[in-house]
Amino acid sequence: MLADHTTLVQFLIEERRRHPSASGDLNGLILEVALACKAIANRVAIGALSGVLGAADRTNVQGEVQQKLDIIANDYFLRATEWSGQVAGMVSEELAEPYVLPSGYPRGKYLLLFDPLDGSSNIDVNVSIGSIFSILRAPNPGVDAITADFLQPGTAQVCAGYAIYGPSTMLVLTVGTGVHAFTLDRGLGEFILTRPMIQIPHTAAEFAINASNQRFWEPAVQRYVNECLAGKPGPRGKDFNMRWIASLVAETHRILTRGGVFLYPRDSKDPTRPGRLRLLYEANPMSFLIEQAGGAASTGRERVLDVVPDGLHQRIPFVFGATDEVARIDRYHREHNDSACAWPLYGGRGLFRAAG
Ligand code: MN
Ligand code: MN
Repeated sequence: MLADHTTLVQFLIEERRRHPSASGDLNGLILEVALACKAIANRVAIGALSGVLGAADRTNVQGEVQQKLDIIANDYFLRATEWSGQVAGMVSEELAEPYVLPSGYPRGKYLLLFDPLDGSSNIDVNVSIGSIFSILRAPNPGVDAITADFLQPGTAQVCAGYAIYGPSTMLVLTVGTGVHAFTLDRGLGEFILTRPMIQIPHTAAEFAINASNQRFWEPAVQRYVNECLAGKPGPRGKDFNMRWIASLVAETHRILTRGGVFLYPRDSKDPTRPGRLRLLYEANPMSFLIEQAGGAASTGRERVLDVVPDGLHQRIPFVFGATDEVARIDRYHREHNDSACAWPLYGGRGLFRAAG
């Protein structure tokens, strides 16, 4: 083995030795996902030269225009994992229904859930994008998974992680024993452990939110953001910076590195969508990582990992990052929901009272 480096393979084998209940199958599946991520990283790295930029002529199940890379990345995930007998089924942000494995392949004991390409709108502008994945135990190992099998709360995840395709490609994952980050060595084609046992810094000096939605926010979020903006002379007594990359993977990676808090809260913009981010493909895996790194993740009203999903493509409000900040935002939600005119009408003790 290389003297000062731990590869992903070595890490997983050593991790398994420390936790004898862990199965080799899970390691096999994680390595297949890592292979898909390396293949995607290769295509992303040469951008226009590999013909991956631009929109495809299709929309996905959510009615969003698919980018060419959404489809390519989805295919890499399916091809890398369908053959080996580790999974009983898969669901993807890009597929309306669970993916049924080709008939010739054995059905395994895990379920794989993924957002093959997160931050699609950033592809053409060469800003960091990523892939997100979550692994559950199949309730019925060995047979094709059905929709209900995937509707497990986030607490049931056995592994979650993401790859970030930035200036360098990294894989960040948890199997429930802390959060560990690996950097892709392109010469070796191996992920090398570069940040073991990541802990989110407690002091938050940055917040991330799409401020163009401000007029749709609930009073709790109006209050939180306004107190941050008020800076040193305000109630928080310190200055904050604001960040917004519009790529959940990149936002999460920044928070795991530098701390802070991210909000895509419930708002009144589209009453049919009580949030923007997908529970199964985005919020659950990121919440598992964030909690494993000593942070917190909430809908504003409850812990994300406790939410029992009611659909494959369910969206929820998502607030995560430094524990103290998330606790404060939860408290503001409770305080402002006590008012007579709670959601969807603004009122009561909100700093900003909408008309009506
Ligand atoms: Mn996404
Ligand atoms: Mn996506």
